[in-house]
Amino acid sequence: SQQLMAGKRGLIMGLANDKSIAWGIAKACAGAGAELAFSYQGDALKKRVDPLAAELGSSIVLPCDVGDEASVDALFAGLGERWDGLDFIVHAIGFSDKNELRGRYVDTSRDNFRLTMDISVFSFTSVVQRAEKMMKRGGSALTLTYYGAERVMPHYNVMGVAKAALEASVRYLAEDLGKDGIRVNAISAGPIKTLAASGIGDFRYIMKWNEYNSPLRRNVTIEDVGNSALYLLSDLGSGVTGEVLHVDAGYHVVGMKAVDAPDI
Ligand code: NAD
Repeated sequence: SQQLMAGKRGLIMGLANDKSIAWGIAKACAGAGAELAFSYQGDALKKRVDPLAAELGSSIVLPCDVGDEASVDALFAGLGERWDGLDFIVHAIGFSDKNELRGRYVDTSRDNFRLTMDISVFSFTSVVQRAEKMMKRGGSALTLTYYGAERVMPHYNVMGVAKAALEASVRYLAEDLGKDGIRVNAISAGPIKTLAASGIGDFRYIMKWNEYNSPLRRNVTIEDVGNSALYLLSDLGSGVTGEVLHVDAGYHVVGMKAVDAPDI
């Protein structure tokens, strides 16, 4: 409803285009009356993010490369100049060298392991550190993870290891910030065709497998993820923290190939 997020201000990080999971979440929040700010990674993305932000009535669009501490500081300084408080933050950011999102995990390089952990794991902690200071009346922080954190999935490799660390950091952050009324959660989304996903080997096959074998017999959309994000970011989720919510058409409960699944 229009009332659910009325009076709430949130920062959305990780919008690249209208296929991004961040876009599904932003649409759901704006539709429920939230006021939004956006950060984008680099100049190349600004021209895509500006019109999308405008579509949702937001004019606060700031650059931030989460690999750079000064850039994260500048984002929150910029946000602090415009807003005196923050109610929620969405971290929809991940990165790994796509040459290591195929083949064997065992062949992962030290440099890409470090980079993947820095951009995909530490960055969430890094932005929550700053957001905490602006969340004077409590708040909600949300990140995005994948089932490859819990089980071995083809090609997910070092990103699976990073998502496991991200999910663990959600639990530690939830404990640290719970006393201040700040909730920290993750959504474990099923596979969705986005820019980031296109770097994963055999992604079309993974999409088909999930469609044929998930209990709902379909893939999820960015709108599905947006609706569940709205629950965790709004007061509907007031008793929920440290949680990893699967928004995956139920795929995580499945133990074997469905009897009616066609061959792929
Ligand atoms: P996307 O490509 O639309 O978004 C990824 C975003 O990460 C981009 O906006 C990119 O600019 C940003 N990013 C990467 N490196 C950055 C950096 N150094 N600084 C700032 N931003 C940076 O893809 P998406 O699928 O919407 O990804 C969003 C999140 O959802 C990721 O964490 C991804 O792992 C997760 N996820 C995706 C799927 C899927 O199937 N698409 C499933 C589960 C979880």
